[in-house]
Amino acid sequence: MPVTKIKITFQTVAVNDSADIWGDGEWVLDARVDGKAVGNPKTEWVAKERGVIALPEKDWSAVVDVSTKSKPTDTVKISFSGKDIDIISDDDLGEVKYEFKYPFNKDQTISLKSPVMKGWLFLPDHQYYNLQLKMEVVEVKATTTVTGPKSVAVSRQHDGSSTFTTVGGKQFEPRVEVCPVVPTPQAPSKLPKRPDIATALGLTPGKDTPQSKPAVLWPLPNPNTLCNPSLIPILKKTDADFAKKVARLAVTYQEPGDLDTSFLTWHVKSGPIEIIGSNQGPEIKVNGTSAGASDVLAEIELRWDGVKGPLLCTYRAWVGKVKQVKYRLNLINGTNPASQVAFAPTDYENQIKMAAIIYWQAGIEFIPDDITTCWDGASTTDSTGAALPKGVFNVPVTNNTWTVNVNNFAPTIASRLNCRPGVVHAVYVRSTTTGRAAATDIQGVDGKDYEMDGKPTASWVVPSGIPPDKDPTKKLKLKTFASSNRPSKKAPGDDNYVKARQKVDAGFTKADMGRIYAAVLPSDWSWNGTGTDANAGVNLAHELGHVLGLHHRGSGDATKAPLSNDNINSEDTAGKQRGHPWNENVMTYGYGGAMAPAPRAQDIDIIQIPIVRKHPACL
Ligand SMILES: [Zn+2]
Repeated sequence: MPVTKIKITFQTVAVNDSADIWGDGEWVLDARVDGKAVGNPKTEWVAKERGVIALPEKDWSAVVDVSTKSKPTDTVKISFSGKDIDIISDDDLGEVKYEFKYPFNKDQTISLKSPVMKGWLFLPDHQYYNLQLKMEVVEVKATTTVTGPKSVAVSRQHDGSSTFTTVGGKQFEPRVEVCPVVPTPQAPSKLPKRPDIATALGLTPGKDTPQSKPAVLWPLPNPNTLCNPSLIPILKKTDADFAKKVARLAVTYQEPGDLDTSFLTWHVKSGPIEIIGSNQGPEIKVNGTSAGASDVLAEIELRWDGVKGPLLCTYRAWVGKVKQVKYRLNLINGTNPASQVAFAPTDYENQIKMAAIIYWQAGIEFIPDDITTCWDGASTTDSTGAALPKGVFNVPVTNNTWTVNVNNFAPTIASRLNCRPGVVHAVYVRSTTTGRAAATDIQGVDGKDYEMDGKPTASWVVPSGIPPDKDPTKKLKLKTFASSNRPSKKAPGDDNYVKARQKVDAGFTKADMGRIYAAVLPSDWSWNGTGTDANAGVNLAHELGHVLGLHHRGSGDATKAPLSNDNINSEDTAGKQRGHPWNENVMTYGYGGAMAPAPRAQDIDIIQIPIVRKHPACL
């Protein structure tokens, strides 16, 4: 029984609804591990609506001895509940339960939704909070081990496969994964089946590597912070920021956990790429070498102890040149503070910088529009005359309904203001009717289905072609967005706008309305209470994905139907077909809510790459 101690941490409580009708709630929390209290149940926490309560790890974690739990039915039981302290009566926030099961050999981070509590009399039903729970292996008693890597017996069998041997003489093959989805999928999404090596042989349990974790998007990281990109960019080695931009390929999971990764050897199987620096170890750098006339696929192999050693894993990615997308951030400001954007202009600039980090894995660089000509009364300075960041525009309006409670599920007036056809616009209005952001002008797209075959499959949709999983039997078919077609589905006043615009902008045509690419976002969307919020950055990246033609991965709403809007489905942990990966693709909803402390919707996969890169805004 290798795992002897695990640590359970109650990490965060994301507040969905503060229960109090006015103002913040005061919550007390009751956390238990196998019935024993963890943390102080008397501590009162201020629960701000859509805020996150970060529980200090020191008090809200427990190390559990699991050495006596040795049967498949053994579990560690978690319960968590809360109350909203009120003067008249306390409100029950609902209880969540979870069981970690034997053999406790894999670190897990889990989000649990509190149950819907029925409202009393005329009061509405509430789903109050989402709990994020972490389980880590902290002590392992390996009953056997692999000997020094050089002396690991590797014998080639007649079918070309290979085996490694434990000290006790048992044969095994290590599991080494270079997952194309980073952060790597967690429940309810499921990765292809892994062979059980560690538990069966008494070896050190497998582990996720640091490169499998979500990127921290603020403070702003390097462009190549996300490992295993779907596109390896062709960069000039003389680029001053080469080291910050060059593609990083990394192992995301290994079993046994103490495998000596210095013996891992990377090898280019096909495609115009070269390894920069060492080709050994758990992480390497790769650069594209072609002229980049068109994007092509490359394959890289990961082998053991030399390029002719046993094959452990294959990675596929596109190779292409960096394409630039020019952006305008239009801040639509009404006549009084209540109708002006909620945060400082630099906050919105920070949001697009974070979104740009996500698009770097597609070889797309978001840059401020180099043409700074303003229309419709817009300016590159704020109301005090101070210069705004590059690409950010102040757009004053006298009609406050153009920026307050904007219905962005219909063509908007806001998205035509200070527009420059061919450029991508992030339009921040004061607020939207639903409180949500939406892509309003999806144009330059064809709405067709795009197929892709080969293995490993995009996002490792099963059957993935990764042994012991079977090879894919059919092509994946990605559905994309049809054009919103602004020239025929007009916002109020579009015809007059074209006429007025032509008077001051001679080249502007009616057809140019079909070259507005825009998303309209509520200016106050934040989980951490500030405008520079990684969730807002990921949210913007998601809307820009729609603008460039991508549909939702998943149904677009985790509480509804399981099948994916973009038709990319895979079996989940409950054995059902659903959008995959559910939380980790940028086109799902792995941000906000329980994900707010570390948003996960950061991946763009190889089947999405050709869609975003063929958009006419990509130059
Ligand atoms: Zn969406």
